Amino acid sequence: MDFTSFEQFELNRQLLNAVADLGYTEPTPIQQKTIPLSLGNHDVLGIAQTGTGKTAAYLLPLLMKIKYAQGMNPRALILAPTRELVLQINEAVGQIGKYTDLRHVALYGGLGPKTQIETLRKGVDLLVATPGRFMDLYRMGEIVTKEIRTMVLDEADKMMDMGFMPQIRSILEVIPTKRQNLLFSATFGGRVERLSGEFLEAPIKVEVSPQASTAEMVNQVLYEVPNFRTKINFLDYLISKDQFQRVIIFARTKTTAENIYKFLARKVVESDKIRVIHANKGQNTRINAMEAFKDGTLQVLVATDVAARGIDVAEVSHVINFDLPLIYEDYVHRIGRTGRAKHTGEAITFLTMAEEYHVQKIEKIIRMTIPRQPLPPQVEVVETPFDEQQDMLREIDLQRRKEDPDFKGAFHEKKAKNLPKGSKKPKSKSAGNQPAKSGLVSRRPGVNTAPKSGPAKRTSLRRGRR
Ligand code: AMP
Repeated sequence: MDFTSFEQFELNRQLLNAVADLGYTEPTPIQQKTIPLSLGNHDVLGIAQTGTGKTAAYLLPLLMKIKYAQGMNPRALILAPTRELVLQINEAVGQIGKYTDLRHVALYGGLGPKTQIETLRKGVDLLVATPGRFMDLYRMGEIVTKEIRTMVLDEADKMMDMGFMPQIRSILEVIPTKRQNLLFSATFGGRVERLSGEFLEAPIKVEVSPQASTAEMVNQVLYEVPNFRTKINFLDYLISKDQFQRVIIFARTKTTAENIYKFLARKVVESDKIRVIHANKGQNTRINAMEAFKDGTLQVLVATDVAARGIDVAEVSHVINFDLPLIYEDYVHRIGRTGRAKHTGEAITFLTMAEEYHVQKIEKIIRMTIPRQPLPPQVEVVETPFDEQQDMLREIDLQRRKEDPDFKGAFHEKKAKNLPKGSKKPKSKSAGNQPAKSGLVSRRPGVNTAPKSGPAKRTSLRRGRR
């Protein structure tokens, strides 16, 4: 049966009205496929990235099942890897359950448990929690699990990446075995497969292809940019353009995120229109930044992958990947922030020669080649500082070794030979950690291989390819 409207699902009026209020006219593919299964009480393994409508896909049948406030103890548990995602899911519960009297609470760490305990003690129907905080409160005797009949694991792959498996195992030990399980993950690989074997019973696997939605809705483009400083110049050029109204800039590390933020706030964007979020930022700072970005106060949000988990903002105009993520699937998460449910967006990725390796892996995952464009001539291409160049060559060496264990390495040995006896190797900084100061650009003659501009740059970048 084809589901072209929410009315076709066996949902109650309260839920259908809330869906209509949210402006959802037709179910997304993941909703079409999983809602009937979940309503039929099957265990479901959903492979869907953020942006596909997966949250409503599991919330609608779940809220249908628990229906209205009842007793004191929770009857459903949703686990998610980060507090941002927990907050966001909890917000979605509020929206979708707005015409019900269901009581729900977000349980997450980073702040004292007092308020969360107070809410629990008043009686709750649904918990949305990070695994760690759930177990803490359980051990404190604040959560009675015996009535939990439905459990959802959201972003299971991220939970595995973040090392939550032991906590999840402990949770499975303390909740009733007779229950319905729903597992959602952006990717399906070794660890998620193992988890689903442990966690799900005769699950029905439902997959919506990320590459289709990625390719259809997001215009992706790659720019080869030789070094950190040139990336900053390019960012300056882009952000100054009018159409860059609501931009998320992703950085792999906290330091890089901070440096990007400092540069843009000093020179390019009014300081009250830009914020940065990463793991070292306090809980409130992060929530406030996301709220400000959501309500349109901010033009630019700089974020690391973990901090950005679960950010859900309609109409992000551009996603800029200042560098490539360590976990390749995060590329899909990152660009999924733009082009959400029927909006088209643009994802721009900056690429040094050391990142060529990663882009090839990403292109394999998304099963497409991301088109490349030359840097606009207005962008000043600066020489690559010696240390940064060495770091990149070292990284390329490591990449080759990873692919070919017999590869002896073109870089380290030579380097060691050239060093005078007893001398230390020069201390290296990671390329991403270079502060955004123009004064840092090395002028040492003869060591910078990246030329200033022109077509030769392409050749230099290609050196990272095999
Ligand atoms: P998610 O994949 O759950 O992160 O959802 C991505 C975005 O799509 C959220 O902003 C939802 O509000 C929105 N959304 C979910 N379902 C639908 C739908 N059926 N039609 C339009 N938008 C939707």
